[in-house]
Amino acid sequence: MSKLSLLIAGLLAAQAAAAAELTVYSARNEQLIKPLFDAYTKETGVAIKFHTDKEGPLLARLKAEGKNTPADLLITVDAGNLWQAAQEGLLAKTDSPALKADVPEHLRDPQGQWYGLSVRARTIYFNPELVKAGELSSYEALADDKWKGKLCLRSSKKVYNQSLVAMMIAEAGEAKAEQVVKGWVANLAAPPFPDDTKLLEAIGAGQCAVGIANTYYYGRLAEKTPGLKVQTFWPNQDGQGVHVNIAGAGLTAHGKHPEEARKFLEWMASAQGQSLFADGNLEYPVNPTVKPAAAVAAWGGFKSNLINVAKAGELQTAAVKLMDRAGYK
Ligand code: FE
Repeated sequence: MSKLSLLIAGLLAAQAAAAAELTVYSARNEQLIKPLFDAYTKETGVAIKFHTDKEGPLLARLKAEGKNTPADLLITVDAGNLWQAAQEGLLAKTDSPALKADVPEHLRDPQGQWYGLSVRARTIYFNPELVKAGELSSYEALADDKWKGKLCLRSSKKVYNQSLVAMMIAEAGEAKAEQVVKGWVANLAAPPFPDDTKLLEAIGAGQCAVGIANTYYYGRLAEKTPGLKVQTFWPNQDGQGVHVNIAGAGLTAHGKHPEEARKFLEWMASAQGQSLFADGNLEYPVNPTVKPAAAVAAWGGFKSNLINVAKAGELQTAAVKLMDRAGYK
């Protein structure tokens, strides 16, 4: 080999080595993402560096780093947060037939800047000693007088409830949604809870008869609490279906390895990556060809709302204002 061809071969090898590494910023914690990253590295040789933090600091960091960011991908929870990141110009549009095939249309950004990778339902939970499933029907019906002093909700400050109310606005309009939220507030058994777990514990203890929470919090609590007096109810089955949200990801606007990042995103949405992404947090895979974990499947099937989750972002400001007007703390 000539000196020149050796040099070229060396340069190509260096380039390949440089590309075979990705950096991920993740609001999903290490315990959930590490096994996924390790599996991908094992399969492809692509090394993955990561930095985990809460959504707020992660977005601020991406913004501050601008063009110099080392991050290729952002993983976070709730379409409201992903929408916010896209809105702030932090994500890049990714056009991928594989992602379009693996991620149902309502669980990804219509502009292709982020894709859902797992689904969590925000559903109704009840104490079977205080409520019969037959008494429940819909989120809206929890505004009825019959639930006075019996309903528990998490704080309106959390994006999950902002997204839920945003989706209700998308579905029924602002006036109707406000009426419902006012009814909820009038029915509260206790001040809004700081998190879903405390709320579910309060239902189990009988402090609340009924409440709204994300499925995986129930899954975690049920696993460590034998005899937990909390049951799942799937609301709005005669209407638009249960409200669902996502954990998902998008390529960063200034990532240096967009090709590699797209391939990794495609892998996470594929049959190989989906169980690893969803099962560790007791979530549902987005990819309809992949079955949920047995513990998740045991909660039973349900019809989910097909409104695009991007609405949670688009209507987030309206939802926050509405909850404030309704006195929902
Ligand atoms: Fe959560």
